[in-house]
Amino acid sequence: MMAARMASILPPLTAMKALETSMVHSVAGILGEAGICTDRPFCDPHHSASMPAIVGGGRSARPGQISLAHNGVLFMDEFPEFSRQVLDTLRQPIETGEIVVSRVNAHVRYPSRFLLVAAANPCKCGYLSDTDRACSRAPLCGEDYLGKISGPLMDRFDLRIDVPPVAFSDLDLPKTGDSSAVIATRVAAAREVQSERFADHPEMRVNADAQGEVLDQITKLSEADRTYLRTIADRFGLTARGYHRVLRVARTIADLDGCLATEKRHLAEAVSFRVGPA
Ligand SMILES: [Zn+2]
Repeated sequence: MMAARMASILPPLTAMKALETSMVHSVAGILGEAGICTDRPFCDPHHSASMPAIVGGGRSARPGQISLAHNGVLFMDEFPEFSRQVLDTLRQPIETGEIVVSRVNAHVRYPSRFLLVAAANPCKCGYLSDTDRACSRAPLCGEDYLGKISGPLMDRFDLRIDVPPVAFSDLDLPKTGDSSAVIATRVAAAREVQSERFADHPEMRVNADAQGEVLDQITKLSEADRTYLRTIADRFGLTARGYHRVLRVARTIADLDGCLATEKRHLAEAVSFRVGPA
């Protein structure tokens, strides 16, 4: 499973983060016998799970799956099938890395800084992009279905990838691309660069945390590249949030590439992930 693999290519938890995650798991009463979580958590709540189970709450204001996934991966399969209430609530933790859960007389604040991976069929019946089995309600079926994901929520996804259906006959083909171990090494190196970069900014840990002037400093765009990105932003109608997210992704692509400067090709790749397939 691709999403479960993502947890394995993230660098190991530092002692501090292992402690944070363990504390949340302890409050939820699911901390194992070892007494500490040393692995990155991977949570994949079902879309039919209740609001308190997913975001936290209930009578005892327990942390939900989005907090149990703190410092790990939150995988939401069949994303449009989750309730509108759950989807709307996700926006806050995606921005701030925490969630406030209300109980009768108090509010409880839980950390919830997760890597969100969401998957969706192109339409409710799933056949919209399958040329062999045409969707009978196209194109409305897809518009209705993906329309359940609001614009502001969609805007918070940095990487959008269209995955075409795989024929059974192709499943036996030899594997292509890098193994998880090779990718994990590259990710660890990029994270290392980022932890040095933010040594003077303890409130930031990775490029995704960079804001304002710091974001400008770390991307160091040439005047020509800045103009290029502005032109693209206008053409594709990027929001201010989208523009800044492209900068962070471009910087991360440059880090994975081992480049000190953020170059035009990094910007172009970051934009292609945001605007998605044509
Ligand atoms: Zn359909």
